[in-house]
Amino acid sequence: MAPARLSAVIAGGGIGGLAVAIALARRGIEVRVCERRSEFPEEGAGIQIGPNGSRILQDLGVAEFLADKVATPDALVVHDGASGRELAQLPLGAWIAKRHGAPYWTAHRRDLHVALRTHAENDPRITLARASEIVSYASEPDGIAAIGANGEVLNASFLVAADGLWSTLRGSISGSSAKPHPLGKIAFRSVTGAGNLPSELVRNAVHIWLSPGAHAVHYPVNGGRDIALVVIVDNASAAEGWDAPAAADAVKGKIKSFAPPLRSLVESAQQWRQWSLYRMPPLPRWTSGRAVLLGDAAHPMLPFLAQGAVMALEDAVTLAAEVAASNGNLESALHDYERQRRQRVTKVAEASERNGRIYHMRGPAALARNTVMKVRSPERVIAGFDWLYGWEPRSC
Ligand SMILES: Cc1cc2nc3c(=O)[nH]c(=O)nc-3n(C[C@H](O)[C@H](O)[C@H](O)COP(=O)(O)OP(=O)(O)OC[C@H]3O[C@@H](n4cnc5c(N)ncnc54)[C@H](O)[C@@H]3O)c2cc1C
Repeated sequence: MAPARLSAVIAGGGIGGLAVAIALARRGIEVRVCERRSEFPEEGAGIQIGPNGSRILQDLGVAEFLADKVATPDALVVHDGASGRELAQLPLGAWIAKRHGAPYWTAHRRDLHVALRTHAENDPRITLARASEIVSYASEPDGIAAIGANGEVLNASFLVAADGLWSTLRGSISGSSAKPHPLGKIAFRSVTGAGNLPSELVRNAVHIWLSPGAHAVHYPVNGGRDIALVVIVDNASAAEGWDAPAAADAVKGKIKSFAPPLRSLVESAQQWRQWSLYRMPPLPRWTSGRAVLLGDAAHPMLPFLAQGAVMALEDAVTLAAEVAASNGNLESALHDYERQRRQRVTKVAEASERNGRIYHMRGPAALARNTVMKVRSPERVIAGFDWLYGWEPRSC
């Protein structure tokens, strides 16, 4: 157990901020989560939670709040976008749960966020503050002073900046002025009723449709009652933010080259939102004194491996374990967290970027990709991701 006097201020009440709050509180640390918005952000569509993430949610005691909200897909079905032909059906469900001792879940981002928040609200060591934006911090002899936009000064042993892709604190902690830059792809997301899934498609599955310069992904959420849909297309223009509305007709216009079942599913969804994809080169450092970056603030993650939220969960439990074992040397604990996480997230980010290139291939490269997918053993393909899904925290 960590000494009782340790306390943390967390800037950002997203998935990473709430998860690290819970993980630290379990170690006996007093935590204040400062969320800039007046309400915790519950927008978003689907989130996939591989065994490396579901294991953490189970260990943190969050899974009980997700019981009727997650789905456990049996397979990942890859389609040629234009013909709809199945290229591969990779095992998830019982197969992957047995292999890694934890399930592969799909969920609505809102439900994951609500589960984390409900758990955090029930923990007396966690204070959740809304409309509380942290704009800077100052180092103190035995801690930090986090400075709010309203001039409020919050003292704590250390500061965790979990303030997302557009992090305010990234520059001062990392010493880098680098900003995320657009990838040239835009994502559209929506949710539709499970009854709208065309009958020819496998029901309880993650489906990926590959087309030149575009791909679509859909999977069950809300305990299988709904389907989350994402369509990602090459697109030069870019805008900040996660939640701009998109016209349904604009999305339909982007999927004309896809086979009828995917088009019919997309047409059943009424409300669309869009966000541009951004990438960032690795930062020179994630820690400065007693301030540390976590989640998207430390390492923005492209969505092609569906690991953005899970990497924030992994960060959370790693940071909490290091702080708890710090023996009073917090700065060294924060460095140890960074050292452990950096190599891992770099590998995941590279794999995600590679997937993005493979998904959007054109011409002969796409044909070669499809042939390889058809001949490879499905179990071997998923086993190739053991390094990803088999990750376990040292102790939680
Ligand atoms: C509204 C929203 C919708 C999303 N939708 C999807 C989706 O549909 N699919 C998907 O895969 N991923 C989505 N994501 C991204 C995904 O949730 C994150 O990539 C991942 O969970 C990492 O979480 P994070 O906590 O590091 O960052 P985020 O989840 O981005 O959380 C950062 C939090 O910090 C707050 N904040 C920012 N600056 C400050 C500050 N200075 N002081 C205090 N608080 C601050 C933000 O309001 C936000 O709540 C979404 C993120 C957001 C914020």
